Amino acid sequence: MYPSTLRSALYRTQQKLTTTCQLHLYESRLQHCTSPLTQFTDDELMTKEMVAKLAKQEIAPLVRKMEREGKIDDSVFQKLFKNGLMGIQIPTEYGGTGSNFMSTIVTIEEISKVDAAVSGCVDIHNTLVNSLILKVGSEEQKQRYLPRLARDSVSSFCLSESGSGSDAFSLKTEAKKDGDEYVINGTKMWISNSDVAQIFMVFANADPTAGYRGITTFLVDRDTPGLKVGKCEDKMGLKASGTAMVHFDNVRIPKDNLLGKFGHGYKYAAGFLNEGRIGIGAQMIGIAQGCLDATIPYTLERKQFGQEIFSFQSLQHQIAQAVTELECARLLVYNAARLVETKKDIMKEAAMAKFFASETACRITAKCIDFMGGVGFTTDFPQEKYYRDVKIGTIYEGTSNMQLSTIAKCIRKEYS
Ligand SMILES: Cc1cc2nc3c(=O)[nH]c(=O)nc-3n(C[C@H](O)[C@H](O)[C@H](O)COP(=O)(O)OP(=O)(O)OC[C@H]3O[C@@H](n4cnc5c(N)ncnc54)[C@H](O)[C@@H]3O)c2cc1C
Repeated sequence: MYPSTLRSALYRTQQKLTTTCQLHLYESRLQHCTSPLTQFTDDELMTKEMVAKLAKQEIAPLVRKMEREGKIDDSVFQKLFKNGLMGIQIPTEYGGTGSNFMSTIVTIEEISKVDAAVSGCVDIHNTLVNSLILKVGSEEQKQRYLPRLARDSVSSFCLSESGSGSDAFSLKTEAKKDGDEYVINGTKMWISNSDVAQIFMVFANADPTAGYRGITTFLVDRDTPGLKVGKCEDKMGLKASGTAMVHFDNVRIPKDNLLGKFGHGYKYAAGFLNEGRIGIGAQMIGIAQGCLDATIPYTLERKQFGQEIFSFQSLQHQIAQAVTELECARLLVYNAARLVETKKDIMKEAAMAKFFASETACRITAKCIDFMGGVGFTTDFPQEKYYRDVKIGTIYEGTSNMQLSTIAKCIRKEYS
């Protein structure tokens, strides 16, 4: 049995803290800065254990069904909301869990061990949408949107278009001011969660004469007239995650739905995608770990030439290498996550974490299929799904090439 809700458990813990305890906690957090990266606070550990249990008991039995049906089961969404996993960093006064970024990262990692379609949804919702509203939203917007996002409304992050992927800021969707309203026209592509989302965070150019400096962020409710979600793409992996075009045909929204500052959309997208990329890194290490966990026991049981295949040194070395590389990826992801909490510039670390974790996870899942032999190539075993799901990591929220370009930009700056 897992705790009734993560939110209420954390709330109770917070209530128990006296001033002295808070001082003690502050001191221990300072000490934590020099702790090993894989060491968690009590809150983070509680989250990790609760999510692992939830993923195993509530999500795992539905994985193949959800993949077949191409949608995340309603019961899974209910469990995610009930356990505070859709509002991890939203403060308790807005109905969230009031936890930290690292808790979001361990949540994504644990769910990914079981199903990357569900973890992708949790990732976008928490690391992009919730996070941006929290940081740049007005008090009125926070009160209007955060309780819904924590309680029952899934969200989508709408940046990409058919002509603007890696070159995201060449987007063509426009928002024209008309009295007290903005009118949005354009089409977004590849929008995750759009099959079920109630709230859309939309990047549109509100002043095309200013180029990318006209890009502005808006919040749009699903039932707004003119908003239409297209048919879900038939993808090689993440099949249960709905990815579709979202059309905006004279979509009128009140000017109060402009999020943050006019013309700052490109800054928000660039900045928040840094956090999002660490989330994708967590998704990748979770997938790779889940795949190894399903594979290594098989190598200890399967016999060839009269002995378990794990006993062949060439296989041992490959497994040891995969586990070591995964640990390197995990350390990059955790380090970037801790840096977010110190409010440092994380552009390089986030790009490194996403790049290395996704490329490593792709290699590891492919290797796991090799370790399994023929059965790894069948749908009777989970390795082929991990292998299909993991590929998206080198593409979305910036391709591997784009991560390398970002890292190189930072290196040039450091040496100039
Ligand atoms: C399943 C899925 C879910 C997604 N979810 C979302 C979402 O929720 N919201 C959202 O806004 N977007 C989403 N995306 C879009 C995703 O972020 C883009 O697909 C991605 O950024 C790549 O853009 P592109 O597909 O247009 O590829 P392109 O930009 O056309 O890239 C094609 C190739 O060219 C390379 N390339 C391009 N420019 C350069 C360069 N300057 N230097 C070197 N190489 C370059 C790329 O690395 C890549 O190999 C999703 C995509 C998928 C597939």
